[in-house]
Amino acid sequence: MKVLIIGSGGREHALAWKVAQSPRVTEIHVAPGNAGTALEPRVRNVGVAADDVDGLVRHAQAAKIDLTIVGPEGPLVLGVVDAFQAAGLRCFGPSRLAAQLEGSKAFTKDFLKRHGIPTAAYGTFTRDSFDPAWVRAQQAPLVVKADGLAAGKGVVICATTEEAVATTRAMFDGRFGKAGDKVVIEEFLDGEEASFIAMVDGAHVLPLATSQDHKRLHDGDEGPNTGGMGAYSPAPVVTAAVHERAMHEVMWPTVRALAAEGTPYLGFLYAGLMVAADGSLKVLEFNCRFGDPETQPILARMRSDLTVLCDAALEGRLATVDVDWDPRAAVGVVLAAHGYPDTVRKGDVIHGLDAAARLPGKVFHAGTALHDGEVVTSGGRVLCAVGLGATVRAAQQQAYDLTAAISWDGMQYRRDIGYRAIARET
Ligand code: AMP
Repeated sequence: MKVLIIGSGGREHALAWKVAQSPRVTEIHVAPGNAGTALEPRVRNVGVAADDVDGLVRHAQAAKIDLTIVGPEGPLVLGVVDAFQAAGLRCFGPSRLAAQLEGSKAFTKDFLKRHGIPTAAYGTFTRDSFDPAWVRAQQAPLVVKADGLAAGKGVVICATTEEAVATTRAMFDGRFGKAGDKVVIEEFLDGEEASFIAMVDGAHVLPLATSQDHKRLHDGDEGPNTGGMGAYSPAPVVTAAVHERAMHEVMWPTVRALAAEGTPYLGFLYAGLMVAADGSLKVLEFNCRFGDPETQPILARMRSDLTVLCDAALEGRLATVDVDWDPRAAVGVVLAAHGYPDTVRKGDVIHGLDAAARLPGKVFHAGTALHDGEVVTSGGRVLCAVGLGATVRAAQQQAYDLTAAISWDGMQYRRDIGYRAIARET
């Protein structure tokens, strides 16, 4: 079979690498891909942008693609799955309406409240309905969120109610463009975050291995928020009891309610959870796709054939399949470009990729491009070095051995990915 992966990040390189291991698959196309997918055996890049829905459909038809897996949220929110379905093509991902779970925070908060799924208390405002007195009556800190997609940057934690009022006004004034036309203001939650990611077939939930990511730029979870500086799997914060609660309080009710409302969910479903010290949990957000960088360590541990799982989901048979996991832990360390997460410099030549390829573990590409036969930086998050090991500490060591082999001018990365899990191990 021929598989198309939509996207160009580290998640998509990991998806392509994983699918390439399937004996059923003859050819993998990535639209548009990166240098890592260009160099991966049996994988080739095609020059169609991830948000060019018509171009993607045309390519899938012309190349006789049997299965498409969508990586990023952008094309999902644009309705790429609906367009593929209308053309009779098999595409793993949620429909445009189901993808609103990520595309609109106000939609999701109202959905959670309507169905009694635990989440932080909140208010939703437009410029016309904004009520500063309501904000001043709340307990600080408060979290102010732009309603729409803002590349992970539309969330501001405000220490005071005055800061929350000012931040809300800045959003209405266009700080995040159209995404800030509506704003959610919510209660600040204490606890430890976990990523709970599952495959869903409209009716059934197949949970994937647990994971946790590190969103802040600097060691010790300090500094500005990023798209993610590293992730590991499994995440010990998700104990068996937390897992059970996540399935029964969040995943099942969400999938059932979406089906009951006429927007059944098919695809990867990612719940960002805040786990409190007493083991209770609340939904911070939903993503309508696999996480990046969580995908890289999770797929490094997956032994099952991902295309078989996608087929089962597309045929409504997820309840009949299991996923086989490598019992080892996996740690992925993101190597970022000069200037990330602000203005990044592109075009720096990356050294040491051949040496890293001879080491155990796997280096996934994200923001890379081929230029005159050399691999150069072309985005903020450039690579993700994934190590495996009997413990998170051992996996971390393998990931940092890979990292030590690689260099470019301005490369930056965290030295402590997985530290919470390692603290629990010792
Ligand atoms: P979101 O995109 O909604 O997940 O928010 C991005 C990040 O902001 C989350 O991963 C949390 O670290 C933080 N965050 C969001 N909402 C809250 C909240 N209510 N309380 C504390 N932290 C939050």
